Amino acid sequence: MKKIRVVVSGAYGRMGREVVRAITAENDLELVGAFDSAGVGCDTGEITGIGANGIRVDASLNSVLKNSKPDVVVDFTTADGFEKRASAIMKSGARLVTGTTGLSDATLKKLEKQAGDKKTGVVIAANFAIGAVLMMQFAEKAARYLPDCEIIELHHDKKLDAPSGTALATAEKIAAAGRSTERKEPTKTVKLDGARGGDFKGVSVHSVRLPGYVASQEVIFGAQGQTLKIRHDTISRESFMPGVVLAVRKVMRLKKMVTGLESLL
Ligand code: NAD
Repeated sequence: MKKIRVVVSGAYGRMGREVVRAITAENDLELVGAFDSAGVGCDTGEITGIGANGIRVDASLNSVLKNSKPDVVVDFTTADGFEKRASAIMKSGARLVTGTTGLSDATLKKLEKQAGDKKTGVVIAANFAIGAVLMMQFAEKAARYLPDCEIIELHHDKKLDAPSGTALATAEKIAAAGRSTERKEPTKTVKLDGARGGDFKGVSVHSVRLPGYVASQEVIFGAQGQTLKIRHDTISRESFMPGVVLAVRKVMRLKKMVTGLESLL
């Protein structure tokens, strides 16, 4: 059996390390390279506690792509400079699976066009945890019957973007469920900026950043005499790995960009 050759981009980061462990554990996948601007030269097996594997973190994406000839690059980095990196990955002939959040609509559009033009598989998902995907789907369904809702997302204190990609994707789905995209706002006086959260297509979104959390989200619906809360908690980053591994296998057959883990299920 020919294994799928995988490079991890952002390999020194929290998600990247988890991906290194997950790829190594699968018989049909092979870790062939690691890219990150931090931890350069580190053995990815040593830093992830699975034992030295000879795959060292390289600071040059181009040299990793050239030397290891991956079938797929799994990327968990930042939105900063993402477009350039994604473009280089596609130009090399590799497919891309990314969970990086905070990407602009313009970047997503360019990516989609490039993937379509090159007929290259790209998977982009704001959340690779199946429970979070279901939480979004249940919220979308609830919004058809209970149009008034707000989102509270809670993440670890090292998260760089706010609100989370999952919160925005949820709000997008809720807005598409046919409710009004004008926020109902009874508040006449705001004594503290941001107290009512951000307004995304009529949905108030509140971001909490505290040590102790990995990623959680609660969607609260309110109607006469009742409330409904739909909540998902990510207890460890392992929760994302079955989704990432599934995406690596599925992207091999794609000829365009698909968005959301739900598109692959
Ligand atoms: P992290 O800061 O721990 O890791 C990011 C890594 O990327 C770091 O090692 C950093 O050095 C590297 N990096 C950043 N910019 C780079 C660049 N220009 N060149 C080379 N390397 C670069 O962050 P994390 O917690 O691992 O999260 C990474 C991304 O994944 C974030 O956007 C986060 O929101 C997202 N995320 C997505 C999901 C999902 O399911 N889709 C889940 C968790 C996190």
